[in-house]
Amino acid sequence: MQFTPEKYRIPDLPMQPFIDPDEIWDYLNNSIPTPDKVKEIVEKSLSKKRLNLEETAILINATDTTSIELIKEGARLLKRNVYGNRIVLFAPLYVGNKCSNNCVYCGFRASNKAQVRKTLSLDELVKEVEALEDEGQKRLILVFGEHAEYTPEFIADSVRTTYKVKKGNGEIRRVNINAAPLDIEGYKTVKEAGIGTYQVFQETYHPEAYKKYHLSGRKADYNWRLTALDRAQKAGIDDVGIGALIGLYDWRFEVMGLVRHTNHLETCYNVGPHTISFPRIKDASNLHMGSSYFVSDEDFLRMVAILRLAVPYTGMILTAREPAALRDEVIQYGVSQIDGGTKIELGSYSFKEKNENIDRSQFRINDDRPLNDIIDELLDQDMIPSFCTACYRLGRTGEHFMEFSVPGFIKRFCTPNAILTLAEYLYDYAPEQTKEKGMKVIEKNLKELSVKIQKELKKKIERIEQGERDLYF
Ligand code: SAM
Ligand code: SF4
Repeated sequence: MQFTPEKYRIPDLPMQPFIDPDEIWDYLNNSIPTPDKVKEIVEKSLSKKRLNLEETAILINATDTTSIELIKEGARLLKRNVYGNRIVLFAPLYVGNKCSNNCVYCGFRASNKAQVRKTLSLDELVKEVEALEDEGQKRLILVFGEHAEYTPEFIADSVRTTYKVKKGNGEIRRVNINAAPLDIEGYKTVKEAGIGTYQVFQETYHPEAYKKYHLSGRKADYNWRLTALDRAQKAGIDDVGIGALIGLYDWRFEVMGLVRHTNHLETCYNVGPHTISFPRIKDASNLHMGSSYFVSDEDFLRMVAILRLAVPYTGMILTAREPAALRDEVIQYGVSQIDGGTKIELGSYSFKEKNENIDRSQFRINDDRPLNDIIDELLDQDMIPSFCTACYRLGRTGEHFMEFSVPGFIKRFCTPNAILTLAEYLYDYAPEQTKEKGMKVIEKNLKELSVKIQKELKKKIERIEQGERDLYF
């Protein structure tokens, strides 16, 4: 290799920054693709091996039609063969939009005086969670601005309150967090409340670009954010989510940054991120983002396929920032989780009537289909919508890794558990037509399991029909 190899530059040390933009650009500028090389790399990924930075750069640079098709087909195959046809559903719940940072792209930024500031009281939080449970949600991500009020204790209290809310057969079984980076003590406090994943997005991995978008406040410190999940690991949170806000800088650099971050966590803590998010910038309150780094739908699809191949055992999240039709397509390339029935205006799950004059949202969403519509469409595509939380609750962390690497894990655990949570949804929340459709999908998928599991699963479904809940393998 003519250019600087990966290990030549910044070594991976716990709690130390690890991004070298020159190293990443070296890879991007010098990794030359050929269709044969691309084929070899796709095969490596299909044989369940994570790609290194050079291989990722080769896929990024492969822009001829044959290579793009190879990459997309590889991602489709990987998704189908390794993860099967399940899609995990969740909803975001915005708890507070006060913020002392000034992220240029965000409607919550401190300087946005047009934003109506609000923090849900515990009573309001309960109402929101009840409304979400009434829809059939089981997995939430609580979202917070960065503000002195949103202390680790406050976040932990919100998590505990959410878990306590039980309405009818409804309950929230997994609460994830998207909030500001904390110090080690802070993460410990939040961990004790029983969180699922702690997400912190780097937004852009490019330090100079980062400076341009983060004008003031704690978030202006690039390295504090870059090492956020190292501190989480030190505090015992090994279930973390990384992400980049696509459109701030060159998407090719961000993909390399995400892979580099994954390497770093694996090298230092022996466990990669649980999930990767890649939101594209959307218009926000009092802001119209024009960006020279705008990523077309076509490149976005390619980007998702490349990420799928680069980190084959990491969960990938696609949110309602993207329109329905594109979401349906992107899912095929390896997305494992989507949000459904999303409302991002504070308090809007429990207020039935939208107040058109008040906008408390962070940005505009493009897929506002109710949860049941999304479930209907997934069923039409022969997918199994899943609310499964079994691994997390049984202490089986690193579930994506197990799905990926333990032979038979998916057929023994994931598919049966997805079916059980779908059955619960169908009995408790679905209109008749969805129920019929869902039962057919369940029957069809049952047939692909071993006779022993089919038997056990049918028994459990009968128990659900008779009113038992929360059964899993
Ligand atoms: N305040 C915390 C933070 O900044 O990490 C957490 C919550 S922030 C509300 C969640 C994420 O929303 C950010 O990390 C960013 O990636 C994303 N976001 C902000 N503005 C956006 C926009 N205009 N379009 C799409 N996503 C945006
Ligand atoms: Fe605040 Fe987060 Fe929005 Fe930045 S992205 S302004 S930190 S809420």
